[in-house]
Amino acid sequence: MQYKNKSQIARIETEKWVIDSLFCPLCGNRLNASTANTKVYDFFCSSCNQEYQLKALSKKIGKKLIGSEYYTFIKAIQNRSVPNFLVMEYSIENNTFKSKEVIFIPKVFISEAIIEKRKPLSESARRAGWTGYNLLFEHIPSYGKLYIVENEVIKSKSNVLKESQKIVGLYNMESNEVKWKIEILKIVDSLDSVFTLHDVYNKENELQKLFPDNNHIKDKIRQQLQFIRDDNVIIFHGNGKYEKT
Ligand SMILES: [Zn+2]
Repeated sequence: MQYKNKSQIARIETEKWVIDSLFCPLCGNRLNASTANTKVYDFFCSSCNQEYQLKALSKKIGKKLIGSEYYTFIKAIQNRSVPNFLVMEYSIENNTFKSKEVIFIPKVFISEAIIEKRKPLSESARRAGWTGYNLLFEHIPSYGKLYIVENEVIKSKSNVLKESQKIVGLYNMESNEVKWKIEILKIVDSLDSVFTLHDVYNKENELQKLFPDNNHIKDKIRQQLQFIRDDNVIIFHGNGKYEKT
């Protein structure tokens, strides 16, 4: 038998688990391992044609995820060709593989704003000048992190699909509109469970910096709050009062 090191075993086990137990979180079909010789994605769904890159960690999912080559990835974001992400925490104990957490990050949430450039490798390194990136996991709003496995329990397909259907609409939206929605979701994340329109208006200056061409930030805020209310992320209580669901 061919000798396999720990990381090879982990790769084989995670791939096997994804194919046997996971499903496409956008349509429910089974996932296939990529046969293409590409580093861009690891799995694809032949039913809805979505691609998935798996980040499997044997430790807790932290604030940042280490990614591959920075410039290639930025280009992929600009071309809108980034895959969706599946972030997994697993353990292998006594030869038993366990999937502890699996989080689906829809590709629309992967923007340049959450990609941090790392220091290029030094002159003495084998790949001198090579530049990696970190994905700032903590900067993705909770709405963009769908748990498929939580505390070692896999959710039912119907529950996952119910959640992901709220996001599917973003896939065909114009990128500026997606950016707006994500920024509003991030603000809502940062507020108390009951908040007011005024609380969101307080972020007007920050939003103005992100959207310098927009002269109607407050109107846009109200519109976006309506959209996420329609998505059932918040409830409107009247008199400028909102509550998170
Ligand atoms: Zn699918």
